[in-house]
Formats: sequence, C-alpha cells, structure tokens
Amino acid sequence: MASTKKTAVVTGAAGFLGSHLSDRLLAEGYKVIGIDSLLTGNVRNIEHLAGNPDFQFIKHDVTNFIFLPGDVHLVFHFASPASPIDYLQLPIQTLKVGSLGTHNTLGLAKAKGATFLLASTSETYGDPLEHPQKETYWGNVNPIGPRGVYDEAKRFAEAMTMGYHRFHGLDTKIVRIFNTYGPRMRLEDGRVVPAFIGQALQGHPLTVFGDGSQTRSFCYVADLIDGIFRLSQSQYHEPVNIGNPSEMTVLDFAKAVLRFTGSEAPIDFRPLPVDDPKVRQPDITLAKRILGWEPKVGFDEGVARTIAYFRDFLAIPS
Ligand code: UDP
Repeated sequence: MASTKKTAVVTGAAGFLGSHLSDRLLAEGYKVIGIDSLLTGNVRNIEHLAGNPDFQFIKHDVTNFIFLPGDVHLVFHFASPASPIDYLQLPIQTLKVGSLGTHNTLGLAKAKGATFLLASTSETYGDPLEHPQKETYWGNVNPIGPRGVYDEAKRFAEAMTMGYHRFHGLDTKIVRIFNTYGPRMRLEDGRVVPAFIGQALQGHPLTVFGDGSQTRSFCYVADLIDGIFRLSQSQYHEPVNIGNPSEMTVLDFAKAVLRFTGSEAPIDFRPLPVDDPKVRQPDITLAKRILGWEPKVGFDEGVARTIAYFRDFLAIPS
C-alpha cells in the first residue's frame, strides 16, 4: 500500500538543528528527505536514522539545482555555515547558500506546491540598538564586516522568501533563531557553548572574548525545534523570533560552565571579535501569541544535558 505520510525536505539535515528537526518530523509522522553538502554538517548527527524507511539522505550542495522526484509537502531550508569562525573560513559559501540556496529551495517548494520555512537568525538584527529585539526592528548590521556574509545572506533570504510569498503566493514562514545549544553541536565550531564546555571538560582555559560583559540568551534545542515545528503548521507568514529570553553575560555563562562541570580551569580573556553584538535577547511575545509557544527547558537542565553529551563525545568519565 502506498504511504499516506507527508514528505518534508530538510536542507542542512546533518547539522545541529537540521538533525534535531529531522528527528522531530519523523516523530510527527513525516517522511524526511535530508539534504546536506557535509561542508559543516556531519553524518554522525544522523547515523541513528540509517535504515529508517522514512528517512532518506542525499549529499548535495543546494546552491546547485535540486532535483527530487515525487511529492513534497514541506521544505525547511536550514543549510548554512552558522558560527562566526565558519563565516570567516567559508564567506563565499555562506553567501551562496543564503542566496542561491534559498532561491533553489524556494523554487523546489514552488514546483511541488509545498510550504516553505526559512531558518533565519537574530543576526538580522546585527548589533541591536533596540533591546530586547522585536520582529518589527530592522536591525543595525555592518554589511561589509566579517559577519556581514552571514547577516546579509540571511537578510537577502528573508527578502527572497517574502518575494515568493507575495509574488507567487507561496505558503512561506520565517523563523529568526536566537542562540541555541544542545547535543550535536560541533565541539570545534567556535561557538561559546561548545567552546566553554569542551575547554572546561578538558581543563583548558575558558576563552572569554572581550571583558565578557556582552550578553546572549540561550535556548535549549528541543524548545527551539518545538517552536519551529509549530510555526511550520501555522498560517503566519512574517518573521517570528524563537529563542529563550533568559539573558546572561558571557562571563556569567563561563562561570556557570565551570560550576556545572566542577572544572578548575582558569578564564583567559581574549580580544573581542569585530562587530560582536553587545546584547541579544528575543522578545517572544509574538511566538507566545500565535503559536502558544514558550521555552520549557531551564538553563540548568539544558546545560547539564549538553555537558553529558560532550563528556560522552570526549569519552571523559563523569
Ligand atoms: N565567545 C567567547 N568565547 C568563545 C566563543 C564565543 O567569549 O570561545 C563570545 C562571543 O564573543 C559572543 C558570545 O560568546 O559574544 C556568543 O558567541 P557565539 O560564537 O556562540 O555566537 P554569536 O551569538 O556571537 O553568534
């Protein structure tokens, strides 16, 4: 008998968020076609799906034309380098996947009559002059700085998505993702959560950039994916912030990691990267109202789960 399941395409499926999203979609009864160039993704993140008849993996760079036979109901465009050190090493690829990759995935959704969901970012707000950030804020972005390749690619991707929505009548959604953490982050991707946890577990100095007074608001991955799934089922077409509003300084985060790991590693203050946003906190009023969503996993619980993952990854006994 032919399957009655709906099919979702996830680009960036071997990445941190793409792999968790694929898991959630499979649990919700979708068939999932995961596409990834493996530039920054890793098959380790989806190896548990090998042999699952509802999951298919295609190694492909979505900056090139995407050919898929059969029906597709949902397209999630999550492929992109996503950490500041990746943008420095992969600037052109970052620009291409946000622009050409968004065009190709929108074209796929249009050809299939599918719903499209774009993974956008709090980086569209740049170094924000409005705090916390609401979806109505247009941002303060340096287009030619080292982060500009990501920020502007995602801003272009949002514009392209709204273009397809308004001109072609495509059913589109845009999520602006704030700092998210959890299992399957790359230990060496340079982002603050894997960096500090990896350093603390290995007894290396924690590299705090600047004086550590800049703030971030950290969302546990399961909460983020829940918000994204709800958005995909909604009828809302403009950008929606998904993130955890509990804000802290980077220095306080370093101290928390030392406390949770029991590490006595020192803190090593390093220069602040160019255009590093001084503050970041999502205003999630809109997500609460239209999706009935808010984060549920507390900081202590989320960090404990993430430390357990990296302990296991590094084979460090607890
Ligand atoms: N950061 C840090 N040490 C590190 C990595 C990052 O102090 O080893 C800081 C970084 O300067 C920024 C914050 O932590 O202020 C979050 O950085 P991340 O790269 O995780 O993401 P961002 O929010 O900047 O995109």
